[in-house]
Amino acid sequence: MERLGIGLIGTGFMGKCHALAWNAVKPVFGAGPKADLVALAEVDGALAAQKADEFGFAAATADWRDLVADPAIDVISITAPNTLHQEMAVAALEAGKHIWCEKPMAPTLAGAQAMRDAAAKSGKVAVLGYNYIQNPMIREMGRLIHAGEIGAVNHVRVEMDEDFMADPEAPFHWRNETASGYGALDDFAVHPLSLLRMLLGRVDVVMCDMGRPFPDRPDGKGGRRAMETHDIASVLIRLGDITGTLQVNRSAWGRKGRIAIQVFGTAGTIAYDQERANEFQIYTARGPLAEQGFRTILAAPGHPPYDRFIPAPGHGLGFNDLKIIECHELVNRILGKDSRTIDFDAGLDIERTVHAMAESYRTRSWVEVDQAPPAD
Ligand code: NAD
Repeated sequence: MERLGIGLIGTGFMGKCHALAWNAVKPVFGAGPKADLVALAEVDGALAAQKADEFGFAAATADWRDLVADPAIDVISITAPNTLHQEMAVAALEAGKHIWCEKPMAPTLAGAQAMRDAAAKSGKVAVLGYNYIQNPMIREMGRLIHAGEIGAVNHVRVEMDEDFMADPEAPFHWRNETASGYGALDDFAVHPLSLLRMLLGRVDVVMCDMGRPFPDRPDGKGGRRAMETHDIASVLIRLGDITGTLQVNRSAWGRKGRIAIQVFGTAGTIAYDQERANEFQIYTARGPLAEQGFRTILAAPGHPPYDRFIPAPGHGLGFNDLKIIECHELVNRILGKDSRTIDFDAGLDIERTVHAMAESYRTRSWVEVDQAPPAD
């Protein structure tokens, strides 16, 4: 395959990340098809045209269905708000396009299930934007855990915190509407769940509490609008015999991009924080007592695919680099090669976990995360 035709829906925060990734994937990884940036869609035609020019797309439209109907497009990046993912993904899959959709899949479980069923029926590749699993440091942590460096894992703690909702005067946003989901659970918890899935496996039982730090926010029209979602969630989790906690907070002053994970085993501990994404700490109980302490491992060319970006150790990758790696993994999957991706099947399992958390909060009880029924 020499060429992949690309369509992009949405040009906000994630839309720009996808555009940068499509522009960079070939220069960074070399082999593989050339990404032909065919067209992008935005709600406003003038903005679409401006972004097409900036991002290097050949055409722009105010109607995303134009991309679905375009035979020159093979893959569609969906970076519009959560409420639109289902309609866009199902239409694109039915038209025979591969999909790279931002997380979460959809606000309702039925919506996520419909997306998974459409992907299964189409036979096309459909993956989700779980960028943090692509960090070479997370890959290395997984390698060490699976090689038994910290013994048998018995406990895990993971936290995701940011402060973009910490100010009670921050305006009401689509992320605060029930229509977009539960709030911190599907906006944030899905990311730690993607990491847990890669490092340790699936969460099978949950017990969840949620918090809403502010009752309302400015509505942008001089008044205030009642908050519909929860910014905070605290969850007890179990992954088979491994116990753990998962905590998420979109109103955590001072935390900017924290995803802190600690994995405890019978022979050591591994600790990582996304705010220091180019390192992790490992403690092994094997050395002499006088020398015991955490060692810091710095990102280096020995941690693939770091070497595809920079030949020098310790210089560091960034958020957009994770998106480029994610894009490359998607292309690999389209080419039928080994690929580290969270597809709509695995994504549906993550969504089921989030909905189990919400049910646990409603019923004030432990809830089992059932496996998804087979695709229709
Ligand atoms: P955003 O508001 O910055 O961008 C969304 C864009 O979609 C806007 O430009 C908007 O005009 C456009 N849009 C809305 N309706 C559209 C339509 N009908 N047709 C075409 N374009 C349309 O939002 P964002 O922060 O980029 O979030 C978008 C998605 O990405 C969400 O699902 C979110 O959960 C996800 N996200 C993922 C990560 C990550 O780390 N993977 C980070 C942030 C957001």
